[in-house]
Amino acid sequence: MKIGFIGLGNMGAPMAANLAAAGHAVTGFDTAAAPDGLTMADSAAKAAAGADVVITMLPNGDILRSVAAEIHPAMKSGAVHLDCSTVDVDSARAVAEQAAAAGLGAVDAPVSGGIGGATNGTLTFMAGGPEDAFATVQPLFDIMGQKAVHCGDAGNGQAAKICNNMILGATMIATTEAFVLADKLGLDRQAMFDVVSTSSGYSWTMNAYCPAPGIGPQSPADNDYKPGFAAELMLKDLRLSQMAAEAVDADTPMGARATELYAQFVEEEDGLGRDFSAMLPRFEKRGR
Ligand code: NAD
Repeated sequence: MKIGFIGLGNMGAPMAANLAAAGHAVTGFDTAAAPDGLTMADSAAKAAAGADVVITMLPNGDILRSVAAEIHPAMKSGAVHLDCSTVDVDSARAVAEQAAAAGLGAVDAPVSGGIGGATNGTLTFMAGGPEDAFATVQPLFDIMGQKAVHCGDAGNGQAAKICNNMILGATMIATTEAFVLADKLGLDRQAMFDVVSTSSGYSWTMNAYCPAPGIGPQSPADNDYKPGFAAELMLKDLRLSQMAAEAVDADTPMGARATELYAQFVEEEDGLGRDFSAMLPRFEKRGR
């Protein structure tokens, strides 16, 4: 396929490299980055012109909307705009509507798996959009990832991502505060892990990503809390979850509290640039 790839940062550059290595003709554009070995255009519109699929991997919904306004008129009829950024549900739906009005297909497909997943081609995609557009981009998901779930109409990929990450943020906080309570009660961390990981308090954060160093499987806690999944990215996704909850009047008190705690951690404490599981040393330092 002829592919335009716009947004070649930490995630976009390795994703584009994997598509090119699989034999697709990829033309990239980025306002700042210029990864080695990729053919680059000097504007987003030029990267998009004539492509079968244009992929965007951008920081936020406002930037996505402005890039979409530039590329949709340049894209050939019937081509698909595949947005893999994590953005607000409203922006994803607005961009999909504009694409349909321009005779284009659109799929929103945010990812989980981080920079490692992007590099190794093992991302998970959560996709929203019409069946035919999903089918067009499915072979690209197979190259860039290990799994793609079609979640329904436009915006549902973003909805799935923020619901998952709202659970993740709240669960990480619950797990880390429980470790600190256990410490203060004199309960050994290994015993705590052995019980909880096989009892009803188990979760991905405890069993697969244990926030306590030296306990459970290897995780960022064993590497001085270097990300991993950075606390500021968790904060971004939690804020998107609260924007969406406000828009549809959903009561999400745990998500709201997790957002406040990660905001405090990242913006007022030492959380910026640390893994989101560094909530454990944060709670350790505090009293009630
Ligand atoms: P990044 O900041 O490294 O990359 C974004 C790129 O977009 C930058 O190179 C920037 O120059 C470029 N850009 C900005 N405005 C542009 C414009 N108008 N036209 C063209 N290029 C433009 O971010 P990233 O870590 O690659 O993340 C990309 C997206 O993926 C984000 O939405 C993020 O939330 C999501 N995401 C990131 C991770 C992760 O671990 N990094 C994991 C899952 C999802």
